Amino acid sequence: MRVLVTGVAGFLGSHFADRLLGEGHSVVGVDNFSTGFHENLDHLAHEPRFEFEELDICTAFDPGPVDYVFNFASPASPPEYLRLAVETLRTGSAGVENTLQIAARYGAGFLHASTSECYGDPLEHPQSESYWGHVNPVGPRSVYDEAKRYAEALTMAYHRTRGVDTHLARIFNTYGPRLHPDDGRVISNFIMQALRSEPLTVYGDGSQTRSFCFVDDLIEGIVRLSRSDEHLPVNIGNPTEFTILECAQTVLEVTGSKSELRFEALPVDDPTRRCPDIAKARALLGWEPHVSLKEGLIRSLDFFRSKAGLPLSVAPPR
Ligand code: NAD
Ligand code: UDP
Repeated sequence: MRVLVTGVAGFLGSHFADRLLGEGHSVVGVDNFSTGFHENLDHLAHEPRFEFEELDICTAFDPGPVDYVFNFASPASPPEYLRLAVETLRTGSAGVENTLQIAARYGAGFLHASTSECYGDPLEHPQSESYWGHVNPVGPRSVYDEAKRYAEALTMAYHRTRGVDTHLARIFNTYGPRLHPDDGRVISNFIMQALRSEPLTVYGDGSQTRSFCFVDDLIEGIVRLSRSDEHLPVNIGNPTEFTILECAQTVLEVTGSKSELRFEALPVDDPTRRCPDIAKARALLGWEPHVSLKEGLIRSLDFFRSKAGLPLSVAPPR
């Protein structure tokens, strides 16, 4: 297949491109580097099956015939989408429509990277796909949440009225190597702070929960969803729930750091609880995650150690 991957210079997009190339497909990657980085693509510099074009998906573009479109482009970290508020809304609206039109033009499959933020600060727990969510439509996070909810509606409309073979992955917090060390997400913040012997910044009292999925598990779930017949949203995430305090303790344990905790203000509308019900993914895709938070953090450590200018934890074989 020849496959378009948008947001290819980001955390998930670059891993997904690696997976497709590893399976023998050709990848056309696009990115505007608003939150992505060249270094995530450096290892593909001499890969003949990888083409790259720097562009903003909000402006119509034509990558030529493709068999599949994977739309990962969008700021994803709260500090970044708050900084890029209007750009995030445009990317989730005009940008998503441009990529849907490419899929429609070439009769390609389409998968959109949606999010657990569609559930907002959920009143149902755990969150299953049938829950419609509890989103503040005008709060600071609305630029991301409402863009993603609109994108889901748009994707379903292209499926229902234009016959595009679409798929919607509701991704829950995912981490791993290439998660940008300074983009403000909790796992990268905590690991970098622990490695630098700085205090870990816990927002609020740390009792809010998240459920963290290691990137390899996530990518496998996305691949399976893209090859399924399911058009309605499917949760892809790890259903083991941690408080943010437990997450901080696990990072301290894995890094061996003596850092203290520093409590800071909770961001506005920060969801209180978040945990995916993955019964649908299990039944439809035969998928579930296998990597625990502790194991995934250990597997991520060398990436973050190199970003902190520290030697790798295990000496590579000579
Ligand atoms: P990321 O910020 O690392 O990657 C996003 C990439 O998209 C970046 O390379 C950025 O430069 C690019 N981009 C943004 N706007 C663009 C535009 N208009 N045109 C072209 N490129 C653009 O984030 P990520 O964690 O890799 O997230 C990828 C996707 O997965 C996003 O759509 C995000 O909403 C979704 N998602 C991620 C998570 C997670 O935990 N990582 C959770 C839920 C949903
Ligand atoms: N968080 C924290 N300290 C940090 C960064 C984040 O306590 O340095 C909290 C944040 O308030 C939220 C959770 O960790 O409750 C996850 O935040 P993240 O930005 O990673 O993603 P979110 O799930 O909020 O989109």
